[in-house]
Amino acid sequence: MSALKTPVEKTFRAYIGLGSNLGKRLGNIRSAIAALEQVPGIAIIKVSSIYETEPVGVPNQQKFLNSVAEIETRLSPAELLTTLQRIEKHMGRQRQQKGEPRIIDLDILYYGQLVISTEELSIPHAEAVKRAFVMIPLLEISPNHIDPSSRKKIKEILSRLDISNQAVRKLDKSRY
Ligand code: AMP
Repeated sequence: MSALKTPVEKTFRAYIGLGSNLGKRLGNIRSAIAALEQVPGIAIIKVSSIYETEPVGVPNQQKFLNSVAEIETRLSPAELLTTLQRIEKHMGRQRQQKGEPRIIDLDILYYGQLVISTEELSIPHAEAVKRAFVMIPLLEISPNHIDPSSRKKIKEILSRLDISNQAVRKLDKSRY
């Protein structure tokens, strides 16, 4: 088949937020990234450092470890969500009360420049731009990524965000 006839499958750049505040938090983040890497139709492009963060809106819980992964994917947003939920389940996450500690939480933060809001899926993730534990790892790997809702770059959004009450500490790489 000539190169011209080779079907071209469209791929999208997406960003996945990872968080864990239960069990072996670092191992959980690593396992989730390893699981993502195994999925046909997903290629990991970059993974941020790991950050230790105070739980937002849920008092008296262990701190979270958070990271953000940039991926290239052929999966649709709905397929990607199903894949993330399958990984969460496989890692032992129980669907629980909102705000309870979790072994692993995987969110679609961005999917190309797509903006959708359905019952199952809001992209960009509804809370992403307010959360230091999302925006700081994103700034590290993709400061010029444009948030399609505000049409602002991550670095501009973060520079205007009051994150004084959201403690986010980058883990020393030698510790992981
Ligand atoms: P959580 O408890 O944070 O894992 O929220 C899970 C629920 O959020 C699921 O039922 C999803 O359908 C919904 N959801 C909406 N938008 C997103 C998104 N961008 N990424 C992941 N889950 C989402």
